[in-house]
Formats: sequence, C-alpha cells, structure tokens
Amino acid sequence: MKGKNRNQKPVAAEEQNAAKGTEAVADPPTITAPSSPPKERRLRDAELPPHFIERRKHPRISTQPPPPAAPPRLDDYAAIIGRPELDEIRFLARHLQGKTVKMVNSTAVGGGVAEILNRLIPLLNELEIPTRWEVITGGNDFFEVTKGFHNALHGGDYNLTKQIQDIFLAYNEQNRLRMQFTEDLFVIHDPQPAGLIRSRSDTRGRWIWRCHIDLSNPHSGVWDFLKPMVEQYDAAIFSAPAFTRQLSIPQYLFYPSIDPLSEKNRELEESYISKVCDDFGIDRSRPVITQISRFDRLKDPVGVIEAYKLVKKYVDCQLVLAGGGATDDPEGAVVLQEVMDAAGDDPDVIILNLPPWSALEINALQRASTVIVQKSLKEGFGLTVTEGLWKQKPVVAGAVGGIPTQIIHKLTGVLVHSIEGCAYQIRYLLTHPEFAAQLGKNGREHAKENFLITVNLKRWLLLFQILLGMAKPSKTL
Ligand code: UDP
Repeated sequence: MKGKNRNQKPVAAEEQNAAKGTEAVADPPTITAPSSPPKERRLRDAELPPHFIERRKHPRISTQPPPPAAPPRLDDYAAIIGRPELDEIRFLARHLQGKTVKMVNSTAVGGGVAEILNRLIPLLNELEIPTRWEVITGGNDFFEVTKGFHNALHGGDYNLTKQIQDIFLAYNEQNRLRMQFTEDLFVIHDPQPAGLIRSRSDTRGRWIWRCHIDLSNPHSGVWDFLKPMVEQYDAAIFSAPAFTRQLSIPQYLFYPSIDPLSEKNRELEESYISKVCDDFGIDRSRPVITQISRFDRLKDPVGVIEAYKLVKKYVDCQLVLAGGGATDDPEGAVVLQEVMDAAGDDPDVIILNLPPWSALEINALQRASTVIVQKSLKEGFGLTVTEGLWKQKPVVAGAVGGIPTQIIHKLTGVLVHSIEGCAYQIRYLLTHPEFAAQLGKNGREHAKENFLITVNLKRWLLLFQILLGMAKPSKTL
C-alpha cells in the first residue's frame, strides 16, 4: 500500500462516470473565478494616494490558480509540535496500516470542511491508511434544499415540503448508486450526503457521521427528517459538546483544525504581505480590520460594516471584507450585493470577492490585519477564528457556535454579542496595542494546543481503532 493514494483529491462525478463510460447524473454547479463584483462601486474622494483608490476600484485578484504547492510531509510538523508528538501519531497509525477509508462531503472548495479534508486526507495516506475523498454532486435544486436545511438546522424557519424531501432523497440516491462502498471506514460529512447510509447494509465497513454544524436548536421538522438516517451510523462526531442532539449512537467530540503548514497558515515573507496589500489597495500605515468569510448572512458582514462605521468615528481605520463562494452555497452573490450596498461609497471599506485559490492572499490579509473579526450570528466552528489565533492576532468574534471554545473572553480574544459590542471591542484593541498583542500570544498557544491538524489526526486514528474493535473507548460525550 505504501505510496498509494497520496495527496488524494476529491473525485467528481464526471471523472468517475467517464471511467465507467456512463453519463453524469447531474451537472455540479461549477465554481469560477468571480470576474468582477456585481456592480462597480463608486468611491468618494479621499485623501489617499491615487494608487490606493485605483487598486480599491480594481484590485489585482489572480484569475488563475497558482501551481499547487508541494504538500507538507508529516516530518515537517516536527518543528512545530515536536518529535514525541509525531512518534505518537505514527504509533497510533501502525495498526491501521492498509485499512481503507472513504470520506464524502458536498464541496471540494470553499468553506471549512473542504479546508480540513484537503490536508487531513494526504496525511492519512502518508500514514499508509489509503483514504479516498469523494464529493457528492447535485443540481441547483439540491443545493437550494441543502442550504435551506443548513439554515434550518441552525434554527431558521423552514417549510419542509414533501417535494423538498424528495429532492434531497433523490440526489442522495443518485450519488449512492454511482459510488462504490468497498472501504473499511466511511466518514460522511454533514447533512448533505447523510442519505448515503442506505448503502450500509451492502458493506462490511463502519460508518461515521461527522457533523460540522451546530445542532443545538434545529428546526424540528428538518431534524426529524434527518435523525433516522443519522441513527443508522455507528458513531456521530460533533465539534462542540453544545452542538449535539440526543442520539441512540455513540457521539464523539472532535475540534476542527487548521494546518499550520498549509498555504493558508504558513509563515510568509514580509515582502509578500506588502505585495498583497498593494494589489488590493490596503494602506499599511493605518489599522486594518479584517473579516474573511463566505458572503453569507449568518457571518453578518453587514453588521461588521456597521461596527466599523462606529469605530471609524474615533479611529482612522480600514475594513477589509474578503470572501468567495462555495459550490454548495447559492446565496453568495445576493449577499455580496447587500454588502456592497451597505459599504456605499466609503473608500476605506475594501470588499474583495476572491476566487477559491486565494489561500496565500488570505494568509497575507490575515497577517496584515491589526484586528481580525468574525462577527457570526450562527457558526459551526469558525475556522477563520482559528486561523486568526494561530497568526497571533487579536480576534473579535460573535459568541456563537464553536467560537467560545476558541475564544476565552479577554484571554485568547474577545467575544461579542452585538454591533455596538463589536465596535467597542475593536476600538479598545486598536487603542490598547499591548493588550491586543497579549491576546494574540495567548490565542496562538490555545490554537497550538487544541486546533492543529496533528491533534485532529490523532483523534481520527483513535476513533478508527475503536470502531474497528482495536481499542476500547474510554469516554464518549
Ligand atoms: N475561506 C476561503 N476563502 C474565502 C472565504 C473563506 O478560503 O473566500 C476559508 C477560510 O479561510 C476558512 C474557511 O474557508 O478556512 C471557512 O471556514 P469557517 O469554519 O470559518 O466557515 P464556513 O465557511 O465553513 O462556514
């Protein structure tokens, strides 16, 4: 098995069907580089050198993906986590060598799940646990339904009709029929592909449902519809204790994680950070407040603009809102327009609609920031918060979802509950740089201890051993 399946990328329907000589069941929505924002913003005159204004109107956003970076190897992590920790990972993996895993989710790019799988899967393969990543496909009608489910499971209103249920089940069934389930372990991420569990009876493997969203207050109709599927799995994993539901199957707690060596998080040359700021018209001589997020109402980008406007009355600063789309999120363009309308003609609100290959640019933006904001109204875990903590930045974030797990108020960052609170805390941090620096330092330690991919990898290895009967669980949630 050695050397096989390294750096596995997700397998799309077309590729699989091409191999089988059949037609695709449905065209997946394609994600393309957003060529330009929906409407060009008119920026009012400001006392800024003209090149800043020009770049803000026409940011230099890359239109082509960069050549892929060589993926880090396990040994590369020794410098960060130490040799003993790496030895422990290798020891845990030893008994699992040759066991096969399939992971399934609903998007290959955009959002935290894809971000994690992109790194976790190569590492499992390097440990000689052949792991395959597959992405379910569906038409726009399917992704409208699953986005509706996503919002409803976070507590939103929803009218769950028979037709909606049929769309969900039909696409799950199409995907199920085109996939093969020959592995020892199946990890199905989130509700979108949960219906693949129907294949369980045809397989010898163990099935895990990895839920990345907060189910503490779900729409009861949608949850009642999904729960019978979920309870057919061997185990469920949640990102925080508060996210769970009463279930008849064992539940485990896994924090999501970031890869400190990925393009998104690795150290960068100062000159590259400056170049990115230059490309986007960011003035590094004044404070920069940044929120990186998909343009999604639950991330409250408009609330961030309002908070910034309150801060701006006292401190001359800039706001960067950078985001992009995910193939399973059809609402992005509408929300982007709302954000542009809210920003109006203020030249110091810099809105960047980034393509999915912007990891290095996002890394640079985070590192160029004075304060990082994640003012979510609902959140799964909030990997952008982890990314900010890791980069030693003071983070101001909504006290929702998994964010309080990451931000211990006034120790590793600050938690906020309103626009006014968010503005107050940003202003405080901008005017108390020593306190801000201390939060950043503490935040990095907290992220290192709990939210690095190496910690997450260890948990997967243990769970696989438990489910395959090689180890006994000490404690479940
Ligand atoms: N992200 C990105 N490009 C964007 C917006 C977000 O690469 O335009 C990344 C971001 O850096 C983070 C992930 O996508 O790694 C978002 O994860 P999070 O848990 O914060 O939110 P989600 O999108 O999963 O709700």
